[in-house]
Amino acid sequence: MRTNAQEFATAQAIMPGGVNSPVRAFGSVGGVPPFLVDAHGAHVTDVEGKRYVDLVMSWGPALLGHSHPAVIEAVHRAVDHGLSFGASTPAESRLAGLIAGRMGGVERVRLVSTGTEATMTAVRLARGYTGRDLIVKFAGCYHGHVDALLAAAGSGLATLALPGSAGVPAAVTAETLVLPFNDRTAVDAAFEQYGQRIAAVITESAPCNMGVVLPEEGFNAYLRAKTTEAGSLLIVDEVLTGFRASDAGYWGLTGRTEGWVPDLFTFGKVIGGGMPAAALAGPAQIMDFLAPLGPVYQAGTLSGNPVATAAGIAQLEHATSDMYANIDARSLQLQDELSAALNAAGVDHSLQVAGNLFSVAFGTSERGVHNYADAQAQEGWRYTPFFHSMLEQGVYLPPSVFEAWFLSDAHDDAAMDQIVTALPAAARAAAT
Ligand code: PLP
Repeated sequence: MRTNAQEFATAQAIMPGGVNSPVRAFGSVGGVPPFLVDAHGAHVTDVEGKRYVDLVMSWGPALLGHSHPAVIEAVHRAVDHGLSFGASTPAESRLAGLIAGRMGGVERVRLVSTGTEATMTAVRLARGYTGRDLIVKFAGCYHGHVDALLAAAGSGLATLALPGSAGVPAAVTAETLVLPFNDRTAVDAAFEQYGQRIAAVITESAPCNMGVVLPEEGFNAYLRAKTTEAGSLLIVDEVLTGFRASDAGYWGLTGRTEGWVPDLFTFGKVIGGGMPAAALAGPAQIMDFLAPLGPVYQAGTLSGNPVATAAGIAQLEHATSDMYANIDARSLQLQDELSAALNAAGVDHSLQVAGNLFSVAFGTSERGVHNYADAQAQEGWRYTPFFHSMLEQGVYLPPSVFEAWFLSDAHDDAAMDQIVTALPAAARAAAT
């Protein structure tokens, strides 16, 4: 039997950092990442045969649990008919219809393969549709590795952004304004200064990539009003929250009840059921600006791939109201247990909650976390011993304090018990 350490060494010798997506390298918590060979229900298993209760769930896609029988069966059926056609299929319209049926204001859907492609295309479409160049994003929001959106926070209000990655030309992010999240004054000032040049505001429906940060009451609606007033588009990124926070994503908990819709939504993760599928969606008037009808080009060899589409359809069809109620209840249970364990160990913290998505932030009980600066100011180092204690006890948490914890419909009493049993020792580790 090979060990995780051996596999990591092999991987590092052939792939940069030994991974194909940076966070998997455990850079922020250190140590050797488990190399996984199996995922079923609420569990993953590594090459050493150790089984973990999973709270990463492939970073969100596994809403029903890993290898849900309905999803696996749909994939098997699709595979039997071929892996990729590079031509249209009836199933694409079915998946698009499922998305449109649950979200407000969606008349057209374009399927792509990754969330990054979805946000990249949304930005291009917004620019093409409005004839404007500037994009507003919020510090700490992640929208995939789109050049224009890999921008670090500018120093203060309406400062044109600097690239957040080598290889991104300053000229590209110079067209991106980075504002503090939850800050209406900053939004006002940006629109006052640049209003007529702003093509779109893009925001995570509820930010989950600086840890979870709750949009303050009415903040998203405010962005809707501001963008409408200025003739800019509002892009609501539901790649992570979509069809997870509710049957209509985090928008289902806000816009649906408040009575507003964005111009464009982006989706990923859940809509692929664990296979590569993502989408952007919105009204025909904007979406039909995409090729072949309109002047904004976008394409993909594997877009609407029949196997991915089949997985996505099966997952959405099984995402019932009972399932959401179950995940919501499990989330509340885990939040309570986590807080109780940390309190018992005397660890100051706040739970960051948006719907059924949550994360923990250390040393933040007084102010909470409302934006990226708050998230960065926390005692993040406490997460490392906490994480490793949980891992040791067979619970696989996101390997960064800046990530949400993902539950699924497969997290049953036994899985929850294992997590809850592990919490006190981890909380004590975080206290030291
Ligand atoms: N948008 C959000 C909110 C995300 O969380 C992510 C990925 O985590 C993306 C976009 C990018 O999606 P992908 O990793 O599929 O490119």
